[in-house]
Amino acid sequence: MRIVTGTISHETNVFSNIATDLEEFRKRGLVYGEELFDRFSGTKTAPGGIIEGCHMHGFELIPTVFAAAVPSGTITAEAFDILLNGLLNGVRNATAIDAVVLHLHGAGVSEVYPDIEGKVLEEIRQIVGGIPLVATFDFHANFTNRMVENADLLIGYDTYPHIDGYERAVEAVNLTARMLDGSFKPTKALRQPPMLPALQAQFTGRYPMAKLIEEAHRMEAMPGVETITVAAGFPWSDIPEAGMSFIVTTHDDQPLADSLAQSLSDMAWQMRRDFLVSPMPVHEALRHAKTATATPVVLADIGDNPGGGSPEDGTYVLEAILEEGLEGGVLAVIWDPEIVTQALDAGEGQAITIELGGHTDDLHGAPLTVTARVKSLADGTFTNEGPMGTGAQSDMGPTAVLDIEGNDIIVTSKRQQPTDLQLYKSLGIDPGTKRFIAVKSSVHFRAAHEPIAAEVIELDTPGLTSPRLTGFGFKNVRRPIFPLDAEMLGITELKTMDQD
Ligand SMILES: [Zn+2]
Repeated sequence: MRIVTGTISHETNVFSNIATDLEEFRKRGLVYGEELFDRFSGTKTAPGGIIEGCHMHGFELIPTVFAAAVPSGTITAEAFDILLNGLLNGVRNATAIDAVVLHLHGAGVSEVYPDIEGKVLEEIRQIVGGIPLVATFDFHANFTNRMVENADLLIGYDTYPHIDGYERAVEAVNLTARMLDGSFKPTKALRQPPMLPALQAQFTGRYPMAKLIEEAHRMEAMPGVETITVAAGFPWSDIPEAGMSFIVTTHDDQPLADSLAQSLSDMAWQMRRDFLVSPMPVHEALRHAKTATATPVVLADIGDNPGGGSPEDGTYVLEAILEEGLEGGVLAVIWDPEIVTQALDAGEGQAITIELGGHTDDLHGAPLTVTARVKSLADGTFTNEGPMGTGAQSDMGPTAVLDIEGNDIIVTSKRQQPTDLQLYKSLGIDPGTKRFIAVKSSVHFRAAHEPIAAEVIELDTPGLTSPRLTGFGFKNVRRPIFPLDAEMLGITELKTMDQD
C-alpha cells in the first residue's frame, strides 16, 4: 500500500502582531520530501508515529511537505498559498496511492481562510476522491464541519502536555489499515458545547479535564466505538467554532456516535464552572518562592507563553523577580536576538548593560535596563530527552546565559517554549539545584518540570495567553459562550451546536 503524508501546522493567535510568513515556518521547520525521514524517524512525535506506523504495516510512505511554525499571528495569504500548493502538488504527483494520512494542528488561521485545515482537507479530498483521508490533530484543535466532512477519520492527542503525538499517529495508521482491509467503516459525530476554556483549565493531569478524558476512554472500550477525540480548543484563533470539541468515531453506527458525542458534550457543560481558573498574583508568588524551604519552586509565566502565540520577550516577571530580590533562580527563556548578539560581541565573563526584552508589543512588560554578566554562550541546539517529543531536535538559535543579580537568565535568538530539561542541561545549568525556575509556558512545562519541582505556581501575568479571556475583545467566536458571557456561568439550558 502507498500512503501519502504531509503537514501544515500552526496554532494561530490572531491577537499577536507577529505575522506568520514563510520565514516563520523556515525558522521552526520546513522540509520537503525525504528530508522528513531524516528529521523525524525514531522520534516520539506525530510525524515519527506516521513513519513508524507505516513501517509496521509494510506501507510505503510518500512524504510531501512538513511545515510547522511556533505559534504566532495570522498566517499570511502568500505563505499559506505556497505551503498548500506544495502539499497539493505532492499529493498529485504521488501516483497510485491508497490513502492519505496527514499531521495537522487544527487551529490555523490565514488571512484568507479562518480554518486552514478545512481548506487543506477539502482540496485533498477533491484530488484523491474516495480513498481513506485521515489526519491527526493537536489537543488545541478547533474542529469545524468542513474538517469533519472532508476527512474520514480525525484523531486528536489525548494529552496536554502533549506526550502522545506518536501513539495517536500510530493509532491513525492502524485504523487506516483497517479501512483499507475493509474491516472498519467510520461513522462519526462532532459536538461542541459553547465552551472556550483557558489553557490552565485544559491540563489533562487534573480535574476537570482529566475526568472528560477518562470518560472518553471508558466509552472507547464499548463495542462499536473505534476512537474518540476530546479537543479543548484554542481560544485565540477567534473563529466561530473555537473551543471545546468531541468527535466520536464508531464502526458503521451513526446513532451510537451521535449519542456518545452528545453525552460528552453535556458532561463538559455541566462541569463548566470548574473550568474557571485563578492564578496567583505575581508578587505574592515570588515572596513565597523567596522563603520556601522545598525547592525548586516552578513559577509559570502563563501570560507570555510562546506555545500559545505570546512573544516570549516579556519582562513582567523578571522585573518582579529583581524587585523582590529573588536570587539563585533560572528564567527560561527571554527571546531577544539583539541581546544575544551583544553578548556574543562582548564575550564570556564580560559585563554588559542591556535593554532586555519588551520589544514586540506593550502587553508583556517594557524593555528592562539592567547590567548583566555574560555567563556562557551556546549554539542553542539540543535533543529532547522527553517526555514531550522525545528524540526530536530543538533549536533556540544562538543563546546566551546572563547572570543578572544572581539569577541565570537564558536569552535566545529563536522563540522556544521551555518544555524539556535539556534546554537547561545543554547550557550547563542543573535546574534541580535552583531556588526557582521561572518558565514562559502555560501547561507544557509540567511534563518535564513536575518531576523535579517542589511545587508549581501559575502566575497571574498579563499577555497574549492570559486566562483572563474576557479582556481580549473576541470578534468572531460564536456567542454566547462560556466564560466570555456572564449568562453562561449560571444554570441555563444547554445550547449545543449540532454538527454531525
Ligand atoms: Zn497544543
